[in-house]
Amino acid sequence: MSEIYWIKQLENQANNNLGQNFLIDSNISRKITKLVQGQLGDPILEIGPGTGSLTSELLKDDYRIKAIEIDKSLIDILSRRFIDIPNIELIDKDAMEYDYSELTGPWWIMVSNLPYYVGTRLLVKLITEVPVIHRYVVMVQREVAERIVAQPGTKNYGALSVLCSLFTQPKIQFDVNKNCFFPEPKIISTVVTLQREPLDDTDLRMKAFEIAKVAFQQKRKKIRTALKEIITEEELITLNLDPNVRPSNLTPDDYLKLAVEM
Ligand code: SAM
Repeated sequence: MSEIYWIKQLENQANNNLGQNFLIDSNISRKITKLVQGQLGDPILEIGPGTGSLTSELLKDDYRIKAIEIDKSLIDILSRRFIDIPNIELIDKDAMEYDYSELTGPWWIMVSNLPYYVGTRLLVKLITEVPVIHRYVVMVQREVAERIVAQPGTKNYGALSVLCSLFTQPKIQFDVNKNCFFPEPKIISTVVTLQREPLDDTDLRMKAFEIAKVAFQQKRKKIRTALKEIITEEELITLNLDPNVRPSNLTPDDYLKLAVEM
């Protein structure tokens, strides 16, 4: 059955407030699934499965799926669509509220066509709070993808770029056209992968991210002003950091250097 068949099962229209733009092009679902690069039976966390377009492709590759969906009417559709499939657990919850300590075992892969209104917050939450996820394959707005991979000194570089670089290796994979969705979104979507290696200094990296958040709150100021509540000008000079540069000129390693000193 086509994706449109499952979308038509929805009693009400797609809920724009929940970022419901469903993927109807199975070639794109397949391309995303290929990026998962897991082993047979690896556990996948899918956030916002919707009517199950991406989910059904993931199941074809024999992954074990835990899918968190906030909309109960979609949970009903998914329960019918995957009624005979043992490899999937459906959880009707807000992914921002779910207790991720329930993810046991170290090698989770997160796959999601993220709802736009909460996508960035969810990604930050999972990177900072759920270390058992070692790979993320996510579809986000093009501009969020650009912020994720942005390099120091560029206009898109910010606390999100620092976080992603400190904890993962992020990579833009491909753009997805608006006509691959129903209803069509107003923006271009981009698929990004983030690979996370085991880290033995996560607390320090978290601290570096917190410092970056403080700095980028005043991103047009020089760091001697933007960071004045946490470090003096003299201490910046001792660390070989020029107090007159702006937060966007500091590399993720510079933020790490600041975290070590504080
Ligand atoms: N994965 C499906 C696809 O690609 O067709 C649907 C993607 S749609 C962009 C986003 C999905 O996330 C919707 O099904 C929406 O109901 C769900 N969603 C929105 N906010 C959520 C939240 N806070 N927690 C869990 N799911 C959420």
